[in-house]
Amino acid sequence: MDEIRLKALAKINLGLDVTGRRDDGYHLVRMIMQTIHLFDSVQMEKIPESGIQLTTNIRFLPTDEHNIAYKAARLLMDEFQITQGIRIDIKKCIPVSAGMAGGSTDAAAVLYGMNQMYDLKLSQKQLAKRALTLGADVPYCLMRGTALAEGIGEKLTRLPSVPRCPVVVAKPGISVSTKWVYDRLQLGEQTKHPDIDQLIADIKQQNLIDMASHMGNLLEEVTVQEYPVIAQIKENLMEHGALNAMMSGSGPTVFALFEERSTAREAADVLRASGLARQIYVTTIFNV
Ligand code: ATP
Repeated sequence: MDEIRLKALAKINLGLDVTGRRDDGYHLVRMIMQTIHLFDSVQMEKIPESGIQLTTNIRFLPTDEHNIAYKAARLLMDEFQITQGIRIDIKKCIPVSAGMAGGSTDAAAVLYGMNQMYDLKLSQKQLAKRALTLGADVPYCLMRGTALAEGIGEKLTRLPSVPRCPVVVAKPGISVSTKWVYDRLQLGEQTKHPDIDQLIADIKQQNLIDMASHMGNLLEEVTVQEYPVIAQIKENLMEHGALNAMMSGSGPTVFALFEERSTAREAADVLRASGLARQIYVTTIFNV
């Protein structure tokens, strides 16, 4: 195989709780991860020249070893002594620095693609082990679907699929670094944690309405305090038929679940007209 084209899918967090902090500074989390049908297109091709040639449609993204997709290719090339060069072209659609694992999913696609192209015969488990060295979310991006992520995000337990409903994704014109948000998070006695176990029970019962009502993200308060536009976007979507709207990951992207595609489209139109968000997509839950 000389060429492969892949969809690198984005994730949202239906629930995000932080339960503590490890001695090395990493936070311990309990997150419900969900893949959505919003993706970067990753095209990979063997080339006669040596090395990695990476291109993307986003001018400010690095195309060298600072790009996580480049790192993924380097990792397997070094380990398996692949001397032939590779061209990777990434057409990004997933908002960057947005809490949607955009970089992690590109890296996962490159690992998956190289395993196929070079017939490396790595199992899912062996790929996941290498994925974790690139980032805590990369193993989940390889797995896809609905999952509980614990530890620093790497301990994954597959959950039943969530009912396939429309999702509106809206990113305001600001970028938030994950580190900035976690650095400001203060856990105390008064901290109101989302009920992740209740969310899991709702998912097991395939109850979309209950699941939507129990969604919660502990990081939301931190990011909203600095960027009130997140709360405004949520309110706007709720006023126009969303079952619930919440920030994904460390933000600033907001997503909203709907029962009907037509309602989701109308809500997206209203939000577009409001000027509150810069990138708005109507997509769906993606099940494996
Ligand atoms: P997460 O949800 O895992 O916290 P995120 O959505 O906050 O991820 P990303 O878009 O994955 O953030 O990455 C943001 C940072 O990573 C930016 O500083 C960007 O320059 C860098 N980066 C490196 N490689 C990529 C890539 N392939 N796609 C997007 N960002 C990348």
